[in-house]
Amino acid sequence: MKFTVLSLFPEILQGFFDSSIMAKAVEKGTVEYELVNIRDYAFDKHKTCDDAPYGGGAGMVMKPEPVALTLDAVGAADKKTIYMTPSGRLFNQAIAEELASEKEIVILCGRYEGVDQRVIDAYIDSEISIGDYVLSSGETASLVVIDAVYRLLDGVINSESLEEESFSTGLLEYPHYTRPETFRGMKVPEILLSGHHANIQKWRRGKSLEKTKKNRPELLAKAEISEKEIEIIGEIEKSGD
Ligand code: SAM
Repeated sequence: MKFTVLSLFPEILQGFFDSSIMAKAVEKGTVEYELVNIRDYAFDKHKTCDDAPYGGGAGMVMKPEPVALTLDAVGAADKKTIYMTPSGRLFNQAIAEELASEKEIVILCGRYEGVDQRVIDAYIDSEISIGDYVLSSGETASLVVIDAVYRLLDGVINSESLEEESFSTGLLEYPHYTRPETFRGMKVPEILLSGHHANIQKWRRGKSLEKTKKNRPELLAKAEISEKEIEIIGEIEKSGD
């Protein structure tokens, strides 16, 4: 899969592609990427990419011509093209899974007050927000999307890890522990040392329910939960957690 990212500051993104699991995915050829500097397509001698908004108001707007020329240069018209914006559709695991089936995604990163609307109208298939807050740039937002998507590609992460993760089951994930058995007086739950696989699974499922109930109760309404588990949630409620 290829990620083509259009940005005024592509250097922000480079380190991500050069590091850790992503670097391995690039080396194996599972991921290809191209970072394109929008400023290279600005045509005046100062390489201007922003201008004041029509109608007045605060801030600057990314000019349409350099952005459109950059999108043309990467063939965005024939590719899945995303604009990172706080006014977009809220990103989640289901959207990450949808995007992971694409051959290539072109991601446009905004700056200032954002990009001239005419470019969005002409080129963008999907506007995506990573959350209900405003960042200063689309680069950090694009990394969130890229990270959530590429790790779903075959061979990047052990598929067993993906199956049990938060959101894949509709619930949040259970807590994890590793050596040492006792850390600053706190012991690993006994059940995890028992070697009894079925009981461990049961305990983990209970912890998933408990954590989801505590941190994201709205997810429980959509998750696949058995009658018995509804009782467990009732008990968690009664215990006042
Ligand atoms: N004027 C815009 C608004 O109020 O919706 C905010 C612009 S923001 C300062 C600059 C850029 O950061 C945006 O064009 C977008 O690319 C990116 N950005 C900021 N917050 C974001 C979010 N929650 N999700 C995705 N992109 C975001």
